[in-house]
Order: sequence, then structure tokens, then C-alpha cells
Amino acid sequence: MPEPKDAYTLEDLRDWSAATSDLERPARLAVIGDPVAHSLSPAMHNAALAAAGIDLCYVRIRLAPEELSEGVERMQAAGFVGFNATIPHKAAVRELVDETTEVAGRIGAVNTVAFENGAVVGHNTDGPGLRRAVREAFSMDLGELRVLVLGAGGGAGRAAAVQCAMDRCERLVLANRTEEKARALANELSAILHDADRLAGPSDRLVAIPWEERALERELGQVDLIVNASSLGMKRTDPDVLPQRLVQPHHLVFDMVYSPPRTRLMAEAEAEGARTCNGLGMLLWQGVLAYEFWFNREAPVEEMRRALAAAAA
Ligand code: NAP
Repeated sequence: MPEPKDAYTLEDLRDWSAATSDLERPARLAVIGDPVAHSLSPAMHNAALAAAGIDLCYVRIRLAPEELSEGVERMQAAGFVGFNATIPHKAAVRELVDETTEVAGRIGAVNTVAFENGAVVGHNTDGPGLRRAVREAFSMDLGELRVLVLGAGGGAGRAAAVQCAMDRCERLVLANRTEEKARALANELSAILHDADRLAGPSDRLVAIPWEERALERELGQVDLIVNASSLGMKRTDPDVLPQRLVQPHHLVFDMVYSPPRTRLMAEAEAEGARTCNGLGMLLWQGVLAYEFWFNREAPVEEMRRALAAAAA
């Protein structure tokens, strides 16, 4: 069976039927990004399409930022069902859609688009994907937890923090290397996460702190879930996300990184008796939510999980 290319280009989109004429099934879904060749999404989504008997396939398209607008128009004209957007396009795609879901509007970025009867609708699955992954891993909802987001100034950290605030988590502590970004986000989220909603005890319900050992030490006793949403942890040479001695046995540690599958943060947290989870589940649930957004029906989760695990391995 002819395989799709590792990544298609804008040139291919300009004559999509010719560029994809060798494919057995029409390519009408894609992940766009730059770089994009590493994306595991095609494996997961093609397994879902096959399991559901939908006669389409999902491919990668590498688009540079200056190619984004034409690329989106070309996909719509070619009859795409929708697409996913990854680095560096999530904020720019937000500006190209006709409407957004509430969560995408609040996050200010779009990573999933559906073409619906001429309209371009943007969604963001980062926050909802985290919520589902946390529920599956720890049998707890974000709304029941006191959460620390490390890396709250980046795209994924912002999405995590917005989701926690929208779910009315018990407490939200935001830390970021560039502290100013965490402060600005806390300020913004104070409109949805009010102290008055709940008995907050002696500590503030929503707080931004510097990403420093002493500040973290002060907060960690009043936190249940620690989310690493920073890019630290992918490289062996990266500094520690947290000093191991600060992790406590009651902590739930969610590392958005999934390569390596057991990060140093996870290994050290487990050594202190904490429960941990890597970011692969978040990727899975993001795929599930995107599928449901495009097709308005339940996704074949177990087939997607198997395909994703195989691709990640
Ligand atoms: P991003 O927008 O570039 O943000 C990077 C974040 O990491 C920022 O908060 C940045 O702080 C921080 N950071 C970078 N280098 C640092 C260092 N040396 N020390 C401390 N902080 C540092 O990236 P992103 O899109 O949010 O992605 C962040 C991570 O989440 C990546 O590992 C990505 O793969 C992962 N992710 C996983 C999923 C999933 O489904 N599992 C989904 C989305 C993202 P500053 O603000 O100070 O620069």
C-alpha cells in the first residue's frame, strides 16, 4: 500500500489531488507544524479512522509561519475535515478562525480546527486533554485538587492553568522561569478563580511565585498535583525540574514530557513515594477530543492508545 510522505508542503497543498493521488484513502486531516516530521498524531488518528471505517487518512504538513494563512485556505478548499496545529502555529491559527470554543478563546490559542459548513472553528485540546489524562491516571478531577503549574508562562502551561481555573480547582500556584509571565497569568485568571468561591484557608487560592527552591518549598505542602508544563526533562542535560527533597508522598506528579517515558522528575518523585504520570496520556486524550470535535461521535480510544504506544516505542 502506498505510504504518505513523512511531511507534505504548501506546494503539495496547491495541487492536493495530484500530490496525494497515490494514496489509497483521501488525505483530509493533518497536523501542521514546523518541524512536524516527529509528530505521533498520524499513527493515532489513522488507527482511529481505520477502526471506525472512515475512508480518510491523516498526514503531516510542514508549513512555515508565512505559509500558514494560504495553507489553511488550501486545506479548506481541498475539502479537509479539519487539522491539528503544533509549534509554532497555535497562537497564529487563533487569528485565522471564524469562531472558537470557550476554552480556546480563554487560552488564546488553537490547536484543533474543524471546517464546518464553510466556517472555520477553533478548539484547544491542551487543557481538556490534561484534565482527562489526570482523571485517568489519578482518579481525581482538576476541580478537587490544589495544583502547581511549573512553566506557567509557556503555551502548555498557560493551557493547564486556564483549565484548572475553569474547573475551579481548589488552589492554583503558578511558577515560571520568567516570573512576570506567571504574574500576568495569575492576574488574568483572578477573573475566573475567585478567593470568595471557597474557603481557601490561610493560603491564597491563586498565587504566582518565582521558580526558586525557597518559594517552592513554602508552597509544596499546600499542593496536591504538580504539573511540569515546561520544556525541561526532554534532554538528559536539563537541570532538575524540582529538587527531589521537596517532593512529598501525597503528591501527584504529572510530567507533560513523554520522551523519555520515565523522566528524571518521575523517577525522583516515585523514590519519594509520590504517584506519577508522563505526558503520553495527555497526547492520547487530546487525540480523542480532536476526533470527537471533527466527527461528533465517540472515538475508538483503545485502538488509538495501542497505536500511540507503538509509535512512541
Ligand atoms: P513553550 O511555549 O515554548 O514554553 C516553554 C516553557 O518552558 C516556558 O514556560 C519556559 O519558561 C519554560 N522553560 C524553557 N526552558 C527552561 C529552563 N531552562 N528553565 C526553566 N523553564 C524553562 O512550550 P510548550 O508548547 O508550552 O511546551 C512545553 C512542554 O510541554 C514541552 O515539553 C512539550 O513537549 C510539552 N507538551 C506536551 C503535551 C502533551 O500532550 N503531552 C502537549 C503540549 C506540550 P519562560 O517563559 O521563562 O521562557
